[in-house]
Amino acid sequence: MIIDCHGHYTTSPRQHEGWRQQQIEAHAAGKPPPPRPTMTDDEIRQTIEGGQLKVQRERGTDLTIFSPRAAGMGHHLGDATISEAWATACNELIYRVCSLFRKNFVGVAMLPQSARVSPKNCLHEIDRCVNQYGFVGINLNPDPSGGHWQDPPLGDRYWYPVYEKMVEHDIPAMIHVSASCNPTHHTTGSHYLNGDTAGFNQLMTSSVFKDFPTIKFIIPHGGGAVPYHWGRYRGLAQDAKLGLLSDLMLNNVFFDTCVYHLPGQELLAKVIPVDNILFASEMIGAVRGIDPETGHHYDDTKRYIDQLPLSAEQKAQIFEGNARRVYGRLSRTLEQQGRRS
Ligand SMILES: [Zn+2]
Repeated sequence: MIIDCHGHYTTSPRQHEGWRQQQIEAHAAGKPPPPRPTMTDDEIRQTIEGGQLKVQRERGTDLTIFSPRAAGMGHHLGDATISEAWATACNELIYRVCSLFRKNFVGVAMLPQSARVSPKNCLHEIDRCVNQYGFVGINLNPDPSGGHWQDPPLGDRYWYPVYEKMVEHDIPAMIHVSASCNPTHHTTGSHYLNGDTAGFNQLMTSSVFKDFPTIKFIIPHGGGAVPYHWGRYRGLAQDAKLGLLSDLMLNNVFFDTCVYHLPGQELLAKVIPVDNILFASEMIGAVRGIDPETGHHYDDTKRYIDQLPLSAEQKAQIFEGNARRVYGRLSRTLEQQGRRS
């Protein structure tokens, strides 16, 4: 089984994003938002069948761990009430996709975060998504300000209520920023990769893993700059007398394979132990074109893993085994819901 641990609903029905626009405009005008739009099952089916499901079939993957569009989370827009209503709508839509395509998608929640608002206000939505929707993880935005970094670092106790909830439910968090509203940081070209890199460094210099020994985080997009600069982080940890970087981080931190060329994947697999790599593509996401050097989509990351000099067993870990370990509820959820074993 091939599990893609990083997919977003980038193809949602037009009225969903349309309502978001109206919601923000109404908030700016000091008015209540309009009622949520109706979306039929057929409309949702169409967007998936012609989108993510089609790509799964073409590329030979089986299951996508699926969450709302990341750049669309927009935690810097509106206020906490606005974020709550939007997160609720987005998560509900993911639940509908997962219910319509039970064999192919399992849900991950976006959180109703807001810049400088305690993440305590996300706990109810986490409970709801895990208990009612059977979601298996969350996306945690380390910078709800959208590129201005106004909240405390991930090592701060500010975030601990979310970490306690993650441990309680046995769910990991993918560290995932949203759109940038800071013109110096392009959303997918720099803000995403900066968010990944900053998140790793914030956790490295914290006591989070001492306080939560079983907690798990996925750093997406191949870990940002981290694997390439593994020597720098080893040296920083050493200078700060934090011990060996591998001891410090690798029980709790995992890297996905959203790296869009073979040399990058080779480096990832060379530097990061196979146990800590999870297959992912973020298909129909940030980079949708075809690489003229290979003739294949940049985000067809399975092709790169297939070419790595690893054993079949190691590849099976990357494609399936590690995801089942990191997403502690995944196997249970698939079995309980009679989807896949
Ligand atoms: Zn993403």
